[in-house]
This record gives sequence, structure tokens and C-alpha cells, in this order.
Amino acid sequence: MGKGRLFVVSGPSGVGKGTVIARIMEADPAIWKSVSATTRAPRAGEADGVDYYFVERSDFERTASGGGFLEWAEYSGNLYGTPVASVQAHLDAGENVVLEIEVQGAMQVRKSAPEAVLLFVAPPSMEELERRLRGRGSESEDSVRARMDAARVELSHEMEYDYVFVNDDIDVTVEEMLACIGNAGAQSQETTI
Ligand code: ADP
Ligand code: 5GP
Repeated sequence: MGKGRLFVVSGPSGVGKGTVIARIMEADPAIWKSVSATTRAPRAGEADGVDYYFVERSDFERTASGGGFLEWAEYSGNLYGTPVASVQAHLDAGENVVLEIEVQGAMQVRKSAPEAVLLFVAPPSMEELERRLRGRGSESEDSVRARMDAARVELSHEMEYDYVFVNDDIDVTVEEMLACIGNAGAQSQETTI
């Protein structure tokens, strides 16, 4: 089987990336979403090894300096990184791999794997983004403010992506992104990382 393709999905916290990707994976089981390592604390309902690998900062830093991450970045005071070995294994198995990562990490992937396809999910408005972030009920007031500040910076990078999706109606976003992954996957070269 040929090698799979690598897709990066970025967008501000609360825009709906996780929700959209979960729906995409239901629709297309041949897509595998990478599980990142993070130093942030688990949210209610998050499981270690499923949502993230929740690790101590010292363990994260050891893995990073040993070249164990395809990319990594600091976001809102915590470290996040993509384990390179599992991504490589799934690409080798011919699966399409999705990384849900922030902008700095996406730019690192663009450098190390230029054939990766970069997708950006944007909110219909900043007001709606804040409503979703608060509606999720997962963040403290400080964390909401930090994430809204980060969102303004992230949105200024959307031109650096191959495709931008405004996540207004979730059904439309899922359909458009599935079509994009199908088309881009068919056209792009295989990914070597
Ligand atoms: P992210 O992964 O980008 O941080 P989530 O997937 O956790 O965002 O979504 C944040 C909140 O917004 C969730 O409560 C989710 O149900 C809601 N949401 C996602 N997409 C939409 C949409 N298109 N319209 C309204 N609410 C949405
Ligand atoms: P959250 O704390 O809301 O789960 O994630 C915060 C931000 O970190 C989101 O923008 C998410 O996409 C990003 N993120 C999650 N995993 C990784 C990763 O492995 N690398 C990078 N660079 N960002 C990540």
C-alpha cells in the first residue's frame, strides 16, 4: 500500500476543530488523528492516550530534545507536541493522518513536510468564537481571555494555509472538509517526514 497523506488542521481554540474532526473520522474511518503530548492538565472527560498523552514538563522536554516530536510549541503556557513515530507508522500504513495543532507547529510541519496540506478553521465572528469557548464550559475566565488573545494572533496567519473554512454551519464545514481531504489526498504527493 502507498504512503498516506498528512493534513494539518489549525484554528483558534473553541472554533470547533475537535467537533469537526470527530465528524470527519466517523464519515471516513481511513483517517487517523494523531494523539499529541501535552503538559496541560486534563479537562473533565478527557482520557490519557485518547485525547492527549498528559505528561510532565520534564518528560516532554526530554522527548523534544531527543527528536521525538515532528513539531512542538508552547501555547497558553503549556507545551504541546506531535509524536513523530506514530505519525510515521500510520503514513507508512497508507492512512491519511490529521494533526490538530496550532499555528507555530503547522509552520514547522510545512518546513519539514512541504507536501502536507494545511487547513484553517475560522470562526464566523469573534463574538461567536467567545460564545463557543464559554459554552464549552472548560476554561477559567483567565484561560478564556488568553485563548481570545491567542485567537487574534492565529487569525492573522490564515493566509499561510492552503484552505480556509469558516465554521458557521457544522454540517457544511464537515462536508467541505471531507471533500477537500478527498481531493487534496488524491492530488498531493505522498508524505515523507
Ligand atoms: P476546538 O477543538 O476548536 O477547541 P470544539 O470542537 O471543542 O473546539 O468546539 C467548541 C464548542 O463549539 C463546542 O461546544 C462545540 O459543540 C461548539 N461548536 C463547534 N462547531 C460549531 C458550529 N458550527 N456551530 C455552533 N457550535 C459549534
Ligand atoms: P487545547 O488546550 O484547547 O486542547 O489545545 C490548545 C491548542 O494547542 C489548540 O490550538 C490545539 O490545536 C493545539 N495543539 C494540540 N496538540 C498540539 C500539538 O501536538 N502541537 C501543536 N503545535 N499544537 C497542538
